[in-house]
Amino acid sequence: MVEPALVCHGGAGHGARDQPGVDIASAAGWDVLTSGGTALQAVLDAVMIMEDDTRLNAGTGGRMRDDGSVQLDAAVATSDGRLGMVMAIEETPNPILVAAELLDEPFHALAGEGARTWADSKGVQRAPVVGSPRPIASDTVGAIAREQSGALAVASSTGGCTGRPPGRVGDTPLWGSGLWCDANIGVAATGIGESIIEELLSYRVAAEHQRNGGDLAAALNWGIDQFSPDIQVGLIALDTSNSGLGLANTGMPWAAQL
Ligand code: ASP
Repeated sequence: MVEPALVCHGGAGHGARDQPGVDIASAAGWDVLTSGGTALQAVLDAVMIMEDDTRLNAGTGGRMRDDGSVQLDAAVATSDGRLGMVMAIEETPNPILVAAELLDEPFHALAGEGARTWADSKGVQRAPVVGSPRPIASDTVGAIAREQSGALAVASSTGGCTGRPPGRVGDTPLWGSGLWCDANIGVAATGIGESIIEELLSYRVAAEHQRNGGDLAAALNWGIDQFSPDIQVGLIALDTSNSGLGLANTGMPWAAQL
């Protein structure tokens, strides 16, 4: 039996005024874990709360594309090797639920209208998402949890970067770039997706953590150091020792329950 733990973030580029939404999500995920719930349920509950928070760029607060549409990306992964990724889905207030439905399917990723039609078959709510024109370039929400068995889960959800064309996919739903989860560590990224994809950031932070003997702070610093300061980027990570951290080269509300 290990101690449960949880780390959440509300996106690189956000300031202190968005901290309360992250704290509420973190407390909800913590309630799941301390009641004996799974890491997967904890990250799904935390991310859903942040998707429902219109101040944060995910779900109902998703940023508009350059044509005014709101297309959302989300992904979830578990340390037992399950993975679900959904990209550019519309009319879906909680895309993380579509990603979760994919965990036990023989395919890992769905995009666009096909994703939405498949979500209908799974009973995931279809509803208009008005989205947010808030003139912030980007951000994302994410959560990583460790349950009492030691199992880890990572979930991320985003509206992407303001002003990108419909169909654009950033790092958030991409395995190895926006998220990573194995038996030792969970990692989630936020920031300028194109740059994060180029660096395969989340996987490489996990590899650095293994290379350096399990120093989480050093691994996150190494990850942030791969970017010039004008490229907003943030990371959260949680490992199987008692370490959980967030780090960004800009404002990023985050919370840890350790
Ligand atoms: N990484 C997200 C994207 O590029 C946005 C963000 O986290 O800032 O879609």
